[in-house]
Amino acid sequence: MEKIPINWIDDYFSEYELHKLAFKSVLYQSESKHQKIIIVDTHSFGKCLILDNEFQSAEADEYIYHESLVQPSLIMHPEVQNVLIIGGGEGATLRETLRHQSIKKAVMVDINDEVISCAKKHLPSFHEGAFDDERTALVIEDGRKYLEKTDQQFDVIIIDVNDPVDGSPSAMLFTEEFYHIAAGRLKKDGIVVVQSGAVSITDNDLFSGIFHTLNEVFPHVFPYITYIPSYACLWGFTLATYNLGNLDITDEEIDSRIEKRVNFTLRYYDSITHHSLFNLPKYLREELKNSKHIIRDNEPLIKHYPGVSSGEI
Ligand code: SAM
Repeated sequence: MEKIPINWIDDYFSEYELHKLAFKSVLYQSESKHQKIIIVDTHSFGKCLILDNEFQSAEADEYIYHESLVQPSLIMHPEVQNVLIIGGGEGATLRETLRHQSIKKAVMVDINDEVISCAKKHLPSFHEGAFDDERTALVIEDGRKYLEKTDQQFDVIIIDVNDPVDGSPSAMLFTEEFYHIAAGRLKKDGIVVVQSGAVSITDNDLFSGIFHTLNEVFPHVFPYITYIPSYACLWGFTLATYNLGNLDITDEEIDSRIEKRVNFTLRYYDSITHHSLFNLPKYLREELKNSKHIIRDNEPLIKHYPGVSSGEI
């Protein structure tokens, strides 16, 4: 094999664990008002968005993350019309939502217009023009402030903000008080779904904290996971609702709703994937039973991942 010079991104999971990705070029780099933004073009996973040194999504497998985040709640809801997305700067959560023909309005609230403008320019396959869809209402604001002020009610609220790392504007969007505000903006059959961070055998305090914190607010809370190749780890999501009836849905119904409602051939989610998402392994079920941390405003959970470091970047 011909030896070519390679630039590496080092993504440290901890002091003792490292994922290395070779990259071709840096497409965008900025210390924006709210976060440090990097977009790199990698050899294995295509273009990747990195915020505050944490990988957010990669061109090659973002469909696994975004279908897992969006599709279960939209398919389980009896008739989804109004969706609120908090975060989701790449526009792929919005794209995935708008694939549902019943959607009348999708409000997306992201704090950082610079993430959106560079995603529009450099990540077209992520948003596929979703920002220009006439059903989209884009708001540049802190998601919590928006929810405190709005009197709109939503069928589904998707919280797709980055993990609460040191200095991140997302820290106050993982607390019990915030989930109470979100619950107050849901319609009767409403569902909330939260991107819930990495799942591992060494550190699940964000995943477990979100589960127990949502449980303080909602009677029915379902954690779920999938493997994301570009993250090189399992990833967690959490779905919560007042109406257990939402979840009483057969495999046939899942596949027939996908067929009837979604105007695109999904690449990841169907009734079989649905089961693999929601069936957690025993060690994780035990861990969720045993650790009971509730995240509150007076002591928000702040993660200290070392994250990306590279001489080049
Ligand atoms: N897939 C992601 C991950 O791995 O964590 C999350 C994707 S998305 C890029 C995260 C978005 O959340 C960013 O665009 C960021 O600007 C937004 N965000 C962070 N804090 C926010 C807040 N308080 N209100 C609204 N948006 C916020």
